[in-house]
Amino acid sequence: MKKIIFATTNQNKVREVKMMMKDFDVELCTMKEAGINVDIVEDGTTFEENAVIKAKTIMEMTGEIALADDSGLEVDYLDGAPGIYSARFLGEDTSYDIKNQYIIDKLKDARGKERSARFVCAMAAAFPNGEVFTCKGTIEGLIAYEQKGDNGFGYDPIVYVPEFEMTTGEMAPELKNSISHRGKALEQMKEILSRKL
Ligand code: IMP
Repeated sequence: MKKIIFATTNQNKVREVKMMMKDFDVELCTMKEAGINVDIVEDGTTFEENAVIKAKTIMEMTGEIALADDSGLEVDYLDGAPGIYSARFLGEDTSYDIKNQYIIDKLKDARGKERSARFVCAMAAAFPNGEVFTCKGTIEGLIAYEQKGDNGFGYDPIVYVPEFEMTTGEMAPELKNSISHRGKALEQMKEILSRKL
């Protein structure tokens, strides 16, 4: 079975991606499982660039195929912030309760469509022969008026998806994965991988 190293230390991403890769015939290893501990400097200017930086770094360190996810929340009222800085927004160690409440407070005068936002996920796969593939998924929503839902992680409690009348934080994992930015990007990535493996 082909081995792929998932270039992240974010256990929430690992949980979601492992669940979505269950039906795919590869051995997906986390960096921890592969015995790698490295702090990768994400100095790209787009989600795609950062995903490529992570995938290439891990592929070069291990000589194995590496998969990376770079994702975040874009809030239109905040000119796209926090965007690629989603993890670092207000400080890496600041709780999501505080980050989420900060965004809600910033949008206190925004109504209806002015609250539009989206999760974005870029994925990159780097192969030892030098080939690199990228793909992208998004899910559109509105910033909720209050935090809701204990499923998911990060900004999930404030991304309200009108079609489902709930935040992604209130969704069962199967539902979130079937419509999420990460789910959509991974579906495309699985197609690429199934052609290349
Ligand atoms: P990255 O590790 O630089 O890609 O940071 C991604 C950050 O974006 C996460 O730490 C979360 O703050 C946010 N994010 C990405 N995907 C999701 C999601 O599915 N739900 C909630 N927050 C997310």
